Amino acid sequence: MQFYSTNNKDLRVSFKEAVFNSMPLDKGLYMPEVIPQLPASFIDNIEKYSLTEIAYEVASALLKDEIPADDLKALVEEAANFDAPAVPLDDNTFVLELFHGPSLAFKDFGARFMSRVMGYYLKDGEQLLDVLVATSGDTGGAVALGFLGVPNTRVTILYPKGKVSPIQEQQLTTLGQNIRAIEVDGTFDDCQALVKQAFADEELNQKFRLTSANSINISRLIPQTFYYFNAYAQLKRKGFKEVVFSVPSGNFGNIGAGLLAYKMGLPVKQFIAATNANDTVPRFLETGVYETKPSVQTYSNAMDVGAPSNWVRIMDLFKQDTKVLKEVVTAYRFTDEETLEGIKDIAEKYDYIACPHTAIAYLAVEKFRQQTEDESAAVFLSTAHACKFPDIFPPLLASKIEIPLSVEELSGRTKQADELKTDFAGFKSYLLHH
Ligand SMILES: *Cc1c(COP(=O)(O)O)cnc(C)c1O
Repeated sequence: MQFYSTNNKDLRVSFKEAVFNSMPLDKGLYMPEVIPQLPASFIDNIEKYSLTEIAYEVASALLKDEIPADDLKALVEEAANFDAPAVPLDDNTFVLELFHGPSLAFKDFGARFMSRVMGYYLKDGEQLLDVLVATSGDTGGAVALGFLGVPNTRVTILYPKGKVSPIQEQQLTTLGQNIRAIEVDGTFDDCQALVKQAFADEELNQKFRLTSANSINISRLIPQTFYYFNAYAQLKRKGFKEVVFSVPSGNFGNIGAGLLAYKMGLPVKQFIAATNANDTVPRFLETGVYETKPSVQTYSNAMDVGAPSNWVRIMDLFKQDTKVLKEVVTAYRFTDEETLEGIKDIAEKYDYIACPHTAIAYLAVEKFRQQTEDESAAVFLSTAHACKFPDIFPPLLASKIEIPLSVEELSGRTKQADELKTDFAGFKSYLLHH
């Protein structure tokens, strides 16, 4: 399987090249040259498969001529080594908990698989791989914990000082080994600008083998299809044949993976894209005009994206046909006030504490049901554990959040972070001399 650029289908590269380049030079995104169809015998019997067995079947359909079967099997088993349970809230409403990985967010699926794939290709004594990441919180933790201990790799994470939650900061700054954190006296945009400049710097590129680990990497997209298939398997065991998925969306990588799964043969009745006030996609589906906006800050800050980077992949999957796309994808937006009401509503109705991103996906299911009177089983994706966003909750609810063991372990460790200003000269000198 080769991968093409969404900007030029004649430009094709191997999986390895797509993984290490992240983005083609023409600034498109890599997509598989064909969307493989999973055999009916697999879909019809999916309830008999475990998460890692499903992950292997799906990965193999895409990558079998790129990575030998035994290696691919070992790789998915290491990458998808935590649960993704579809927890029932009532007869036909389920919350798909994607936060049981090391950083307590769904980004662990993508980051762990990517780090394993890179580690796999680096086996044969290649030059140390230097991963540079800018983070506003969730990405950094997933990437750091994904690459922790992966031989031949080193991760440098830049995060804005004082602008990530305490648990996020612990995940970034207490790991040691091949992970180092830089606290930048500025904003997330400053962090991103520093990383971008580093990638464009000739001297740094000569000295180091630099790579980014951002969400557009195709090796982060592929493993996110696994949990959609696995959610379907869980519902099928309960007798359901059709599913509606509601996905809290920012850069649209998560829902993009769901749509890839659908195109590979997963039976899905409807996808709901749920956004906060950063509503570029809901506006597009309403008006037909795709107009990006600068992002605005909200309670669900991992979704504060005005120009969703994965949207071109979704248009590509649907061959630019908005009409067909709109039959499969509905989109709703919610304000911060509604988000807070959603959090309270789930807590009251179901005694369940949802993070603000998750609450938006829940609200979208409610709205979809009101508008369509659809009574199919609905699965809304929980993208992070509530403990990562403690400030959003009213005190009474905040006190009910259960802190996972892995977080308690981190809290005893000392913070190790180097402080830098926002000037590139300082960052460059740091990279050259540390
Ligand atoms: C990254 C993130 C999202 C958005 O996912 P996309 O793939 O960018 O749409 C939603 N919720 C949480 C908690 C996240 O970390």
